[in-house]
Amino acid sequence: MGLLIRGGEVVTGSGRHRADVWCAGETIEQVAPGLEAPPGAEVIEAAGKLVFPGFIDPHVHAYLPLKNVTAKSDYAACTRAALLGGTTCIMDFAGSGAEADLDEAWAVWTAQAEGKASCDYSWHLTLTHFDETIRRQLEEYVTRGLRSVKIYLAYKPALAMSDDDLVAVLSFAAAHDLVVMAHCENADLIPALQQKLLAAGRTGPEWHGASRPPLVEAEGVCRFLTFAAATGAKVYVVHLSSAEALSMADRFRDKLEHLWIETMIHYLMLDASYTERADFEGAKWVLSPPLRDTTDQAALWAALADGRIDTLGTDHCPFDFDGQKTMGRDDFTQIPNGIGGVEERMALAYTAGVVGGRLSAERLVAVAAENPAKIFGLWGRKGGVAPGFDADLVVWNPEARRTISATTQALDTDYNPYEGVAVQGAPELVTVRGQIMVRGGQFVGTPGTGRLVL
Ligand code: MN
Ligand code: MN
Repeated sequence: MGLLIRGGEVVTGSGRHRADVWCAGETIEQVAPGLEAPPGAEVIEAAGKLVFPGFIDPHVHAYLPLKNVTAKSDYAACTRAALLGGTTCIMDFAGSGAEADLDEAWAVWTAQAEGKASCDYSWHLTLTHFDETIRRQLEEYVTRGLRSVKIYLAYKPALAMSDDDLVAVLSFAAAHDLVVMAHCENADLIPALQQKLLAAGRTGPEWHGASRPPLVEAEGVCRFLTFAAATGAKVYVVHLSSAEALSMADRFRDKLEHLWIETMIHYLMLDASYTERADFEGAKWVLSPPLRDTTDQAALWAALADGRIDTLGTDHCPFDFDGQKTMGRDDFTQIPNGIGGVEERMALAYTAGVVGGRLSAERLVAVAAENPAKIFGLWGRKGGVAPGFDADLVVWNPEARRTISATTQALDTDYNPYEGVAVQGAPELVTVRGQIMVRGGQFVGTPGTGRLVL
């Protein structure tokens, strides 16, 4: 028994070196050159390949019921797609805002994930308000290992948190070492801009971006970080999309001890012109915050490389075009927001980032494995290739080439937002706690292998 990955180049957030990786059971035991496999061990020859820690996606909606539509995703499909893309741990958001309380949200997400997940998963708990019941429940989850909560400044009345409650949540978090994650967009400006556009007959998907301009995001970042500075909480800005919001965050760096910023692969790869495609096709790329301009993309790549952006996720939340995105055919505000990406994230980031010269392979590991593990309390188990870590590994073929297409994707959605994009680099072998889940680029795992990790 056991698994030896031999002759590859191990890449971590801090360097790269040729080494063999010996995994016994669920953990990595040795990382060194010239290791010998005991009889009965499986040996994977990895010469010419890169060996990455299993990638972690800090922002995934594996299951997300919305008001009148549910994302076309469940734990079985999402975690299988994640593994095929080289991601061995996803972080989902337990709670849609519709559940009676945190215990119900936890129970619903447990029922969704257990027995279905193929890769490991962790949860951020979604909070829409704060009161004594939530305080008691949160204290219990903190003792069970919860490290993060998520709040929305946008989406009134369903999700948006009041300023009063925001102060209470941040104060609670500061006292309990919780990270507060926030969707930063102004909840009142968006509907006002939407109504103005609709009243002027601007009903198509190309107007989605105009209803949520970068200033609306920058205001949310400013308010969230102002409150964070006043309370001393550790904070994490989710899905930062614009240069304007980034420079707002920069103004708070000397005022906040723990500020982390996340961006998404779609903001790096896609721009607003996609939403302008004719015949309502633009709806395929309606998501929030919206896709921005090429100048925003350049700012995000630079910040990802220089350390001002800490993590790279997906906000994976796929929908079909027919029947789901088309719900907003006469009114862009009714288009379900979101796209998939768990399968494509690493190949896109490797291609545009590492091959494209914008990001080192080490920095890619930092933003897509190490930092999510460190920020959310999994470091030592996840995100690294070193003795004692879970044997979550990716053997990456840097020369593999393919073209992304809905006809070959793992998900069963009726389109792929990256259709026709040529990528270089692919995960050939992927393990979760020593079990081979992807071999030769094919899924060979078992649903139910995945565990909740807190
Ligand atoms: Mn969001
Ligand atoms: Mn999200």
